Amino acid sequence: MKLLFEKSVPERTGVWPGPSDVPTTINIQDSLLRERCASLPELSELDVVRHFTELSRRNFGVDTNFYPLGSCTMKYNPKVTERIATYPGFAHLHPLLPQLRMGGMLTQGALGVLYEMDLLLREITGMAGFTMQPMAGAHGELTGMMIMAAYHRDRGNKKRIVLAPDSAHGTNPASAAIAGYRVVTIPSDANGVMDAKALKQELSDEVAGVMLTCPNTLGLFNPHIKEICDLIHSVDGLAYYDGANLNAIVGKARPGDFGFDIVHVNLHKTFATPHGGGGPGAGPVGVVEKLVPFLPVSIVVKRGDGTYALEYDRPKSIGYVAPFYGNFGIVLRAYVYILMLGKEGLARVAENAVLNANYVRAKLNGAYTPAVDRVCKHECVFSTTEKMAANDVHALDIAKALIDRGFHPPTVYFPTIVKEAMMIEPTETESKETLDAFIAAMIEIADLAEKAPEQLKAAPVTTPVNRPDETAAAKNLDIACLP
Ligand SMILES: *Cc1c(COP(=O)(O)O)cnc(C)c1O
Repeated sequence: MKLLFEKSVPERTGVWPGPSDVPTTINIQDSLLRERCASLPELSELDVVRHFTELSRRNFGVDTNFYPLGSCTMKYNPKVTERIATYPGFAHLHPLLPQLRMGGMLTQGALGVLYEMDLLLREITGMAGFTMQPMAGAHGELTGMMIMAAYHRDRGNKKRIVLAPDSAHGTNPASAAIAGYRVVTIPSDANGVMDAKALKQELSDEVAGVMLTCPNTLGLFNPHIKEICDLIHSVDGLAYYDGANLNAIVGKARPGDFGFDIVHVNLHKTFATPHGGGGPGAGPVGVVEKLVPFLPVSIVVKRGDGTYALEYDRPKSIGYVAPFYGNFGIVLRAYVYILMLGKEGLARVAENAVLNANYVRAKLNGAYTPAVDRVCKHECVFSTTEKMAANDVHALDIAKALIDRGFHPPTVYFPTIVKEAMMIEPTETESKETLDAFIAAMIEIADLAEKAPEQLKAAPVTTPVNRPDETAAAKNLDIACLP
């Protein structure tokens, strides 16, 4: 595709508004004036419309195609939540409006949303209080780790170590390290989950806590989860639950009941708010009663007369972790989503997320090698077969071939404990027809991998760029050099 500048034709114009009849009153010094006009592309209005419309069609998203990117929960974002987020009473609020008196009538509704969201998330996770400030899952993790550190400081505990499984999402050890901890990795057992025996060996008074996601990044639920939390508590450690993908268990089980002390939830995954491309998210953090004093300020409280107010006077608080109240628009969308689904609807989210993942798992078993041949929760992980390996076909080739067939590839090469990993998260919002079409494409690709591997090596052939150096493309982003 040509750049807009390359499509330019001298003297071609779009709209000509006619000569200006507004008198010029500002005299700009000659030395400040350019000799020539800025060289802008010269194009007709239609050329411009076609150019930008074509560019917009290159966006791949949940609204255009199936997007089974493991661990990222790319599910449908209902449009009603978008609509409500644009209501002027929410969208035009300024964060410095007063809470009460004059502007109070303007802000009480938004404060009410934050307050009620706190109550809903408590009920869903089994925690005693939440902050809505963190703006992403990783930001929630760091907030949670700072709360963990504040708790230990307050008790005079000398703790240096955080334990995390070898299947951990990369942000987990990174968050613990940024909070000042040394991360010790606990291996998975033969069933693909954190080994409680291995954890016991690493337990000591220096252990500040454990960071886990359950189900883990293999999509597997850890049957020893309660025992793991109890072990951590036995050394006055805290158990941190990474609830990025709570859609696996929402409405069915609560991290608080497993024994966790700190939980973050990715509203932009579990509760269907838009995300991707690093775009706005929200990672509220919930804690058990003894950690509530350490939550960031401010906290929305409900007063005796039924009005809402922001509370700042919390001496043990870790302080602000984001400007104002976080990504309010995202919290609002998730709030609408939760109210829309209700208790029964949320439980069905988990049921269908698990059903869809297991359907894909069962259908692809054989064509691909399952990482662990067990019933999974919200996602399943496969590897290439021996025959594929012999033909030099890699997960990357399969991913690229899927693009040509109109599907976003699954997450590849993660979790790192699985060789040639392909991590598929179909999500609960996809129909059986869509899953069947994806499965058929995966099986066709598996077939090619054995019979005509060279065809996979050429993929993708339908995209503007073929196989860029992904690291270089991310590090030296040059959006003007598209072919
Ligand atoms: C997505 C994810 C995160 C990080 O969330 P971000 O919002 O991308 O920062 C953390 N843990 C798990 C398991 C995830 O899937």
